[in-house]
Amino acid sequence: MPREEHSGAVLTIDLAAICANWRQLRDRLHGGAACAGVVKADAYGLGMEPVVIALAAAGCRIFFVAHLDEAIRLRAALPEAEIHVLNGPPAGTAPEFAEHRLVPVLNSLADIEDWRRFCIAKGEALPADIHIDTGMSRLGLPPQELDILAGDPGRLDGIAPAYVMSHLACADTPDHPLNREQLDAFRRTRERLPLAKASFANSSGIFLGTDFHVDLARPGIALYGGNPAPETPNPMAQVVRLQGKILQVRDVDTPQTVGYGASHLVSGPARIATVPVGYADGFLRSLGNSGSGFFGDIEAPIVGRVSMDLITLDVTSVPESQCAPGNRVDLIGPRNAIDAVAERAGTISYEILTNLGPRYHRVYTGGAA
Ligand SMILES: *Cc1c(COP(=O)(O)O)cnc(C)c1O
Repeated sequence: MPREEHSGAVLTIDLAAICANWRQLRDRLHGGAACAGVVKADAYGLGMEPVVIALAAAGCRIFFVAHLDEAIRLRAALPEAEIHVLNGPPAGTAPEFAEHRLVPVLNSLADIEDWRRFCIAKGEALPADIHIDTGMSRLGLPPQELDILAGDPGRLDGIAPAYVMSHLACADTPDHPLNREQLDAFRRTRERLPLAKASFANSSGIFLGTDFHVDLARPGIALYGGNPAPETPNPMAQVVRLQGKILQVRDVDTPQTVGYGASHLVSGPARIATVPVGYADGFLRSLGNSGSGFFGDIEAPIVGRVSMDLITLDVTSVPESQCAPGNRVDLIGPRNAIDAVAERAGTISYEILTNLGPRYHRVYTGGAA
């Protein structure tokens, strides 16, 4: 990571806010349901180790990642945690799951059969989750495979089923009929596979109602400050602040254009500030002529295209004392939170976070002393 003085932007990650978000979600859960933490993709780009250590200190015991290697890295950080691996075991990796005490999510009858054979050979019923597809058509047993399994429960002999799980397709759209259909399908599934506890809700699923909470919720984005209930004000604390540093400021006048493709034409005397953050930093190109930075409460629109290493802001309305070289501008901050930036970029907050690049200087605040 670059030193602060060398970097073009400072990314501040508030670990106390992540923990407060986790506690808020846990407290929303009904009937003693547990709250896991989803930390795949380097904790949504915010840094696996600091995030999981903070979450564990807050009381989180159960974690989900996508890949085996993410799980091995997580195991090194948290020797005691319960770690589930959403993408399941690649062929031949069952011994590594056992060695690192990882719980695979089994996504097909073939996954189940491989894990069962491994358990029998090892003489130990090892835990695994059984993932049933109730409407994503992505991972998990499709209905035909569920029928086969329910009709022949011996296919689970030798395994210790941990959770029967499923995943919601439209949880961020509360009125979508698929939520209720998936809930009904999941209930029928649990009646047919009564051996394990159940896990259903992601962040948004928690806000669909207590029916969705069952035994274990799996929030990700809400921990990191994304709004899990987009039709209402965001109940989560903001976690991320990205402050670009002004590199140069210049006066321009008509007729003059800004940046590649001459896509912005200044319409009168203006001041343009250049900030060393670009699409190579994960600052999405779709924010060109669309996003903005904030100097305190003063908005400065991004004008022109986003370059690889630079953006340009119209700072005509910002007092010169606040936008000289070295001053900072919020590219993500109190006035432009991740969901607002995502909307301007035509994407979702998940993509904003997971693109945060390695050239930012990172500062973690609010961690355990
Ligand atoms: C990523 C993921 C989650 C977390 O989803 P969020 O929307 O970030 O809360 C939960 N469950 C599964 C299966 C996932 O892939």
